[in-house]
Amino acid sequence: MSTPHLSVDRERCIGAGMCAMTAPDVFDQDPDEGLVLLLDADPSPAQRPAAHMAAGLCPAGAITLREPEPGDCR
Ligand code: SF4
Repeated sequence: MSTPHLSVDRERCIGAGMCAMTAPDVFDQDPDEGLVLLLDADPSPAQRPAAHMAAGLCPAGAITLREPEPGDCR
């Protein structure tokens, strides 16, 4: 089964916290700067809907969710 791959750009992150609130098993925030911390770059099927929603809600566009192409076995 293919697995989405998440990445975050801490240079773009503004610390709004939408990701950590929406998908707390996947994202957290740095306690000092408030910037995003990626906890799980390959979320489980149960976590994917929340991770997908978090990527859409991020006001800074700092979350990228790459859906592998069919046949992409990496
Ligand atoms: S929602 Fe976006 S801007 Fe807010 S903490 Fe998460 S990655 Fe950063």
